[in-house]
Amino acid sequence: MIEVGDASAKVLRAIRALPPVSVDLARASGLVLAEPGVATTTSPPWDNSSMDGYAVRSSDIVLRNSGGNSTPSLKVVATIAAGGFAPRPLGAGEAMRIMTGAPIPVGADSVIRIEDTDRGADRVAIKDLRDLQKNIRRAGEDFLEGATLFDKGVEIRAAHLGVLASAGVRSVNVHRRPRIAVISSGDELVELDDFTDEVKGMKIVSSNSWTLPALIRDAGGDVIDLGIASDDPESLRAKLKNTDGCDLIITSAGVSVGDLDNVRAVFSELGGELVFWKVRMRPGAPMAFGTLNGIPWLGFSGNPVSAMVSFEVFARPVIRKMLGHSLLHRALVRVRIEESIETAAALTHFLRAIITRTDDGSYAARLAGSQSSAVLSAMARANALLIVPAQARSNPAGTILDALPLTDVISMSERFAIQ
Ligand code: AMP
Ligand code: MG
Repeated sequence: MIEVGDASAKVLRAIRALPPVSVDLARASGLVLAEPGVATTTSPPWDNSSMDGYAVRSSDIVLRNSGGNSTPSLKVVATIAAGGFAPRPLGAGEAMRIMTGAPIPVGADSVIRIEDTDRGADRVAIKDLRDLQKNIRRAGEDFLEGATLFDKGVEIRAAHLGVLASAGVRSVNVHRRPRIAVISSGDELVELDDFTDEVKGMKIVSSNSWTLPALIRDAGGDVIDLGIASDDPESLRAKLKNTDGCDLIITSAGVSVGDLDNVRAVFSELGGELVFWKVRMRPGAPMAFGTLNGIPWLGFSGNPVSAMVSFEVFARPVIRKMLGHSLLHRALVRVRIEESIETAAALTHFLRAIITRTDDGSYAARLAGSQSSAVLSAMARANALLIVPAQARSNPAGTILDALPLTDVISMSERFAIQ
């Protein structure tokens, strides 16, 4: 048996970021730059107004105002809409009506917001001088043509897409998404489409065929669903022959010690190399890692909760590494357990838990129900996996432990007390 940390390190050592591909910006969300993104234009392209108001020359206003309390008044000579340009430079004693985003006319150095004027059409009176030399967004204040916008290794998210689009970048070089073959195995399993067999009490639906693909897509991988292999070795062999071109093979079931647990045997018979088998964790102890024709293979226990927990601990970081991420593991949070927790074996436990934020901003955790590796509904209720170290067999209420969040723990609705 190998420790969780050693096992994950061994797996990750065998994984490299996948080669770069050029991807249209429309499909780049969530991918990681393999080369820096470079601006092909300057943004904003011209000095423009950050207010609806009047573009003016501050010297005009200061001069006109210096004689006393008189309200400066200027001749309105044009209107500049966003998308339009001034017909000519702004002259002395003149103002131009201007909209937010519209280019500043040559000669203007201030935009007086409309609320500070009498909104005049022919002449405009300026009632407040607080906007002198203000409200102009300078050309290039976001970025300049030729500038490196983002370094390689940066994940493209919504704001990045917006920046790249405004920089005229149509496609980016990113690490491609890994293709991940998923194989379930077991004579007791059917696809959801054959649900009638389950109704007859003869079979169970392969829930791993739903959980694992969803987790893979969520982590950024593409799923190659190879369906269910029976416990006949020939069936698994046939499926494994379809894994050419895949970057990772994930199997579930058949890696324990039962008579029909022949997944490891089939792998080695096909020339696969086993790196380790069995991890000191619960759930998910029977787990294999190896390679087949150079393709890494994660062989999870078939128990629905075990397969999901093993995915979180081992597969998500693998997918992230293939995608080119440098942060591979989710951030842990420290939680205070609200009930005492005993574990039955000296293994690292990953317990289904519900964590909540308390009034002082710290986190509390309680168990999400049954900890049986077959009870998937408790996994659905959980928002975190509570990590109980192998040596910590008896944990009184109040003990501080780490938890691995599976979803957002605190929502905006809680923060702003939105009912
Ligand atoms: P195994 O890993 O083959 O020993 O299977 C452990 C348990 O997980 C058994 O109760 C199986 O019926 C169940 N199981 C295996 N594969 C799946 C699957 N794809 N979906 C749901 N349950 C499964
Ligand atoms: Mg089985």
